[in-house]
Amino acid sequence: MTELEQLCDQIRTCQKCRLGLRRTHAVPGEGPSSPSIMFVGEAPGYHEDQQGRPFVGAAGNYLDELLGMIGLSRADVYIANVIKCRPPDNRDPQPDEIEACQPYLEQQIALLQPRIIVTLGRFSMRLAFAGATISRVHGTPKRIGDIVYFPMFHPAAALHQPRYRSLIEQDIKKLPEILSDLHALSDESESSPPEQLSLF
Ligand code: URA
Repeated sequence: MTELEQLCDQIRTCQKCRLGLRRTHAVPGEGPSSPSIMFVGEAPGYHEDQQGRPFVGAAGNYLDELLGMIGLSRADVYIANVIKCRPPDNRDPQPDEIEACQPYLEQQIALLQPRIIVTLGRFSMRLAFAGATISRVHGTPKRIGDIVYFPMFHPAAALHQPRYRSLIEQDIKKLPEILSDLHALSDESESSPPEQLSLF
């Protein structure tokens, strides 16, 4: 069993917070083990809790559509959430729940080593943009260490409020260019000093 699989198993049996008592299934996340892009949502909803898989409800169908717009599918990316168990009635995750779950997300990121982390919604945005407002920073990449964080509105926002749809779609269409810039930079860095890695 790989370290990633072990971590997912640990998440499936986790009882570190109250959400462990009520869930049907924890939702560790899924995708390839060396993805270029990792998406991080907020928390499982009803369908995710039923199936133990991330983004399989209406917001997930829209995420699939967004990926299709840039020539990708779920098989190409890793998808996880800030918290791994469904909060009752889909309420916002509470600070102690986020804190209890945080080491899982940190370990996932360390094992997966994605080039880009797309944060979906305001909770995962805090990974890289603490204190920011999503309406200000969405669509603006920020490089921290080896990872470029790219904040987007949550796909569910577009389902509830159609005015977000064009913003989300404009944002996702920036991803291929960011990724190819990163690939170009890593090619360059093989022959250049690291100071040149300052695109973001
Ligand atoms: N919304 C999320 O943030 N995550 C899911 O897995 C599903 C819906």
